[in-house]
Amino acid sequence: MTLFEKIIAREIPADIVHEDDVCIAFHDIAPQAPIHILIVPKKVIPRVGEATEEDQSILGHLLLTAGQIASELGVNNTEKGFRIAINHGKNGGETVPHLHVHMLSGRPLEWPPG
Ligand code: 5GP
Repeated sequence: MTLFEKIIAREIPADIVHEDDVCIAFHDIAPQAPIHILIVPKKVIPRVGEATEEDQSILGHLLLTAGQIASELGVNNTEKGFRIAINHGKNGGETVPHLHVHMLSGRPLEWPPG
């Protein structure tokens, strides 16, 4: 069972901000910005590059959910704004092998990322 499956199953606690049939979203335990939410599909897809055609609607749902949460937190506008990131593999910075979208906001984020 992945760490995020344990959060979905309520076996380990998390500060959950959203849940529906397809995904769950919660605050990152080590936030890299004042707002740092993880949006996680309930289906275990290890990482984005391993998603298939069959996962198309799940992938779209994760992005739409990130936008909805950004709206709820007052940052889905051009004045504030937010960033979405998905890390794949070692060079991408992946540490949990269960696909997740990071939604970061609340401070100016640099580009290119470190
Ligand atoms: P990755 O590095 O794989 O893209 O992202 C994994 C994220 O999960 C990291 O930002 C890390 O801080 C977060 N994380 C790791 N363990 C936990 C946990 O037990 N609870 C929560 N809420 N986040 C976690």
